[in-house]
Amino acid sequence: MPILNIVPARPARQCTPCTACCVYLPVPAGLLGPGAKPAGVPCPHLGATGCRYHMCRPSLCAHFLCAWLADATWPEAWRPDLSGLLALREWLSGGLPAALVYEIQPGALRLPQGARILDALRETTAAVVIVDCRQQRRRLLGTKRLAEWLTPERAAA
Ligand code: SF4
Ligand code: SF4
Repeated sequence: MPILNIVPARPARQCTPCTACCVYLPVPAGLLGPGAKPAGVPCPHLGATGCRYHMCRPSLCAHFLCAWLADATWPEAWRPDLSGLLALREWLSGGLPAALVYEIQPGALRLPQGARILDALRETTAAVVIVDCRQQRRRLLGTKRLAEWLTPERAAA
């Protein structure tokens, strides 16, 4: 899971039964065990109904919020296991907001709902990186002009 994930206050909504981040996100060595966890491989601590060590899971996991979990305005149908898209918000260097989207169900990016999710992210970020189900990456710019994100502080960073 990316270290740069934006972490607002804990939301009221719950992940269950989604466990997408425990499967589809890569985790560097040393955070869940001695080895790295590749993207698309279930965490060794993941059981049939969720994390087997939920109460003592690593802080990386306890603090992780995907875009759906972090934003109560996102509809239930956008939850990653339902929409097929796992989105994370991140900061780029210079403090620009960005997002990373994994297509976890083939074809999800081509559905109308997938387009709405990408639109919602593009409206609130400077750039969205998409990783499709074949691990191909592409980038979409946000809908605002880049200059609109560049406050004097950000431009100087
Ligand atoms: S992908 Fe989001 S909703 Fe699903 S388990 Fe992870 S944080 Fe929860
Ligand atoms: S330790 Fe638990 S919460 Fe963390 S990735 Fe593994 S199964 Fe998911």
